[in-house]
Amino acid sequence: MRNQTHEDKNICIDCQTRLSTILTTEHYSEAERHLLDKPKRMLTFTVPVKMDSGDVQVFNAFRVLYSDARGPGKGGIRFHPHVDLEEVKNLAFLMALKCALVAIPFGGAKGGIEVDPSTLSAGEIERMSRSYIRELHQFIGEHVDVPAPDVNTNAAIMGYMVDEYAKIKGAFVPGVITGKPLSLGGSQGRTEATSLGGAHVLKTYLEHINKNVEGTTVAIQGFGNVGSNIAKILHDWGAIVVAISDAKRAVFDKNGLDITAFVDGGSPGIIPEDHCGTEITNAALLTLDVDVLIPAAISHQITTKNATEIQANVILEMANDPITTDADPLLQKRGVVVIPDIIANAGGVMVSYFEWVQNSSNDYWAIEKVHTELERRITQAFSTVLEQSKGSFTSLRADGYRLAIDRIIEAERVRGRLQHITQNINV
Ligand code: NAD
Repeated sequence: MRNQTHEDKNICIDCQTRLSTILTTEHYSEAERHLLDKPKRMLTFTVPVKMDSGDVQVFNAFRVLYSDARGPGKGGIRFHPHVDLEEVKNLAFLMALKCALVAIPFGGAKGGIEVDPSTLSAGEIERMSRSYIRELHQFIGEHVDVPAPDVNTNAAIMGYMVDEYAKIKGAFVPGVITGKPLSLGGSQGRTEATSLGGAHVLKTYLEHINKNVEGTTVAIQGFGNVGSNIAKILHDWGAIVVAISDAKRAVFDKNGLDITAFVDGGSPGIIPEDHCGTEITNAALLTLDVDVLIPAAISHQITTKNATEIQANVILEMANDPITTDADPLLQKRGVVVIPDIIANAGGVMVSYFEWVQNSSNDYWAIEKVHTELERRITQAFSTVLEQSKGSFTSLRADGYRLAIDRIIEAERVRGRLQHITQNINV
């Protein structure tokens, strides 16, 4: 048998921990597990950037293609000082599960540059984005691996990247990257897609337990693209949003905040200083007595330290990985229903898929079609998870993981890769 240990540098340790915590051993064979523990391809490389001073600085960069069993890789590119290979592997793994769970024909990937973009000028960011593509262009492609925006990257950066790719290839290939500006083949509805998808998932869950969005009390951590849009959508649908927060402050009103005023009155991602509402701490927001808690900021906000204090009945994970693996069972034990990130925030990648389809067909959709298709597909995907849970919502995460992994394993099996691995293991 082949030796697979933690010293194996290719293994994604976080993914392995999640798999062994969430999935029972008897459900998957050893060969199947080995296939899931490691990304298909990991690139670590350097990106030289000519700075405004005239000096050249060299940054560490990454791209991980976790799985392409079900289609080309799909996943964002982040610019952040904490980006490292382990984080990128873990996020690429989650992307593979997410795409499989919402049944779009992509694998999973992620990339990034270890940099604090707030220290760069606009020109340096553009040159960095172009340099990243010059170093990576052989490993991406509309049928190979399709990047998109992520933390600290946006449509403008995707515009530079698709332009650089066109210069290298001598042809404009819009489907190589999604999240582009509309004028370069972007899709209508991408900005609010993640939040609208999450709102439909929540509505589906509430209807499943014979409740309505109307009158449901909600607390939301994070008021950026995802947090502010879901606050607005749920407020418009009649929910009572009692608390919101950004990195600096959290605001509470037990009768419900006037979300429209916050959305229209503030800068993106920031709650205005002259807010109406009582100021509370971010930690207090997480433990408020509400029907639904929505973490929509950063990872690892609910841990073993605060899991036993959570009072919400439902947590809708709009951020990626907001609950640590060891906090999950504590929530389960207390009957808190967690709607996991791989379905809750999949609306974004779904509209990225619509963008890719529009690019390959050259047939651009009206916003109404984007919204209708998003609702239809994400509701259907989540309904399948609910069916799988057979009325017990103790671990929708495990139910979702199983569905996603079954689909990835099935694709690997029919490609013949699993037989090959099994043969190796049995030698
Ligand atoms: P964003 O940068 O637009 O907003 C982040 C918000 O979180 C800001 O309001 C910021 O002030 C706040 N914040 C940061 N640190 C905080 C802290 N310690 N406590 C409280 N608030 C804090 O980001 P976004 O695009 O809204 O993404 C939010 C989350 O959703 C991330 O986890 C991201 O990976 C995930 N996500 C986003 C998308 C998308 O389409 N944008 C898709 C899938 C998942």
